[in-house]
Amino acid sequence: MANSAPNEILVVGSIALDTIKSPYGQASSALGGSALYFAIAASYFAPVNLVGVVGDDFPSGGYSILEKRQVNVDGLLRAPGKTFAWSAEYSANLSERTTLRTDLNVFEMFHPRIPPRYRTTPFVFLANISPELQDEVLDQIERPRLVVSDTMNLWIDFQRPQLLKVLSRVDVAFFNSDEARQISGEHNLLKAAAAISRLGPKRVIVKMGEHGVLMVAGKNLFSLPAYPLEVVRDPTGAGDSFAGGFLGALSRASQLDEDSYRRSLLYGTVIASFTVEGFGVDRIAELTNEQIRARYEALVDHARIPPEEPL
Ligand code: AMP
Repeated sequence: MANSAPNEILVVGSIALDTIKSPYGQASSALGGSALYFAIAASYFAPVNLVGVVGDDFPSGGYSILEKRQVNVDGLLRAPGKTFAWSAEYSANLSERTTLRTDLNVFEMFHPRIPPRYRTTPFVFLANISPELQDEVLDQIERPRLVVSDTMNLWIDFQRPQLLKVLSRVDVAFFNSDEARQISGEHNLLKAAAAISRLGPKRVIVKMGEHGVLMVAGKNLFSLPAYPLEVVRDPTGAGDSFAGGFLGALSRASQLDEDSYRRSLLYGTVIASFTVEGFGVDRIAELTNEQIRARYEALVDHARIPPEEPL
């Protein structure tokens, strides 16, 4: 059996047809899902193995994008029935999102089966799916170097024990600020991150949307603003693609030290900034390495602090 590349990433999560309404437009049955956003984002940095399920209505355009981004789809199951479908609407200022429908469809019967060649993938991302399925993934993988997870409010509400079990088995956990407060019962985000760390993950990353991101690992704290944008069209997938840019960049680092984590968080921020400029995956499917590099350098420059002069 072929060995995995040292920076290969396995992602398991949802692949969806999303119907989205924002004040800046709408999309019907557009390609989406946590694993799809993540896979496209991470593909700019590393080889990606995608595991998930689609229905027989999944459009050929979805396969073409994955092929173009050279995402490995041996673990992408096509099952009889309809693809997972989700629809949501954003408020006028884009800060609130209301889920209108969640149709599990082929997800209802899905249990992830990790192809043997993927089981030794060094970097594993458990994208947003039920924690029961995330746990099934963890049972199938062998000696990963790093396991990172994401989740959503639905599972904190309805599958808390299963989610706590997953958290006890991962190295790094992503939450958005509402979810971090919800799972920890702490309003203050530093206290929330510390409380989440006590559940298992050594490192907790709290996404705060347009307010940036906070990373806490023991006594190490890093905080970064979002990339400033004039136009935001559709925030869908910002979190998933953030994680893709982050883990993609981290998988290439020579060591998993604090500096590498910080740099990778900048790449996550940059990729998420492209995602929200377009509808669905439109914008992130068409990036170039130069565009990514230019925004990374701009982000560093925005926060550049001149050397101190004596007062
Ligand atoms: P984000 O904007 O990062 O929170 O992610 C949005 C993506 O999550 C959309 O593309 C949806 O298809 C997907 N999604 C929404 N609800 C669920 C769910 N219950 N399980 C898995 N994925 C979901």
